[in-house]
Amino acid sequence: MGRHLTDEELIDLLYEIKSPESHVERCEGCKERWERLLAKRQAAIPPLEIPEELLIEQRRRIYERIERSAARIWSLRPAGAVAAVCVMLLAVFLSVPRPDQEETALALAAGDSQLFGEIYSMVESSEPPPIQPIYGLFEERQ
Ligand SMILES: [Zn+2]
Repeated sequence: MGRHLTDEELIDLLYEIKSPESHVERCEGCKERWERLLAKRQAAIPPLEIPEELLIEQRRRIYERIERSAARIWSLRPAGAVAAVCVMLLAVFLSVPRPDQEETALALAAGDSQLFGEIYSMVESSEPPPIQPIYGLFEERQ
């Protein structure tokens, strides 16, 4: 059967530093000490059941902190907050369909083609006089 296990060896067993010792299973004295040690550890480990009130209290405090930090952000960046609200209002305003939107779009399209035509004629006629001889050069070479 060999010698009995020392307390230190039992503790090593407890924390699984040593592989399970078969001596503990064979020797009544060591088995008893081993079981006492296990019971002690079990008693030392706090119960895993967390009271409901503690969880509620914890959640309440988390929400409080979130609200406090949010309030701080709002107070620190009023300009940013105002800008965000403006962007939101603009988005809502733009997303609301207007009855005359289609007509406006058609009118705009007509106006656009007219405008582009005008711009095009302006570009065509706005060539500076010195550019004309250059065109002449290109035509000569062809
Ligand atoms: Zn023993």
